[in-house]
Amino acid sequence: MAPTLDPQLRRALAERVRYCHEMGIYDFYWRESAVSESIEAGQPSPSAISESLFVASQPELREEMAARKSAVAPAVVEDNIFELATPKPEHGVADPVAALQLIREDLGDCTRCKLHKQGRKQIVFGVGNPRAELMFVGEGPGADEDAQGEPFVGRAGQLLNNMIKAMGLRREDVYIANIVKCRPPGNRQPERDECETCSPFLMRQIATVKPKAMVALGATAAKNLLAISAPMSELRGRWYDFKPAGSDPSWAGARLAVTYHPAFLLRDPRQKGETWKDLQMVMKYLGIVPPKKAAE
Ligand code: SF4
Repeated sequence: MAPTLDPQLRRALAERVRYCHEMGIYDFYWRESAVSESIEAGQPSPSAISESLFVASQPELREEMAARKSAVAPAVVEDNIFELATPKPEHGVADPVAALQLIREDLGDCTRCKLHKQGRKQIVFGVGNPRAELMFVGEGPGADEDAQGEPFVGRAGQLLNNMIKAMGLRREDVYIANIVKCRPPGNRQPERDECETCSPFLMRQIATVKPKAMVALGATAAKNLLAISAPMSELRGRWYDFKPAGSDPSWAGARLAVTYHPAFLLRDPRQKGETWKDLQMVMKYLGIVPPKKAAE
């Protein structure tokens, strides 16, 4: 049985990474350790929901968002500490709709990273309730999202919609965004420099929406949000405290859970039950009672 990484140790490591980044040190090497944590005790049974709720119309073709087994452990969110330390146009703007608009205007016709010249049709900013209690964060736009300018509108988006519906929510109740806002060519994973350049804008969106809970969809989103490079088996089944530095002191921050990316579920539907466990954990925290159909 794999050992468990103590949460205090994990926080201490994150602090260490933050310090190293401050010193200009970015490359760290993960020593392989099989870490596994299970779903919190007392969570509802994962088998309650019909998997048909998650069925999408077509099989997904893109690559799995699997975590790299041995990888650099960058801390993008840690960089954002310094990004958010500088006053931004939306600071002091109470209306989240106006604040998000200011962030979008600040982003402009962004050319900050190389993704702007690699075939994107448009920037995919984010969509949903600016006051959402729940926020989903994925990796980056695909072809459909690039064409429509909205995150999660393709086949993976249909599945995400089904997941949201199974929770008893509507798509317009939540806020949805990605780590990077431009489509990586060939739907490749966004590279580290692209994530580091783009994610400060996501942090500002999060700090504006102030969700109570967040769900990182897939290992890439989790890695970039949490500065943890680990397999999904280690990342799932627990909560992480998440609050972008520089955000409203009166906001307690979000609790962040990690689950599989819908695109991965299209490739491996067997993981839908595990995903439902993760969503149940989120629902319990938010006090959401699933629709009767889902609970049967
Ligand atoms: S991915 Fe983000 S940082 Fe890169 S060009 Fe697009 S909006 Fe700008």
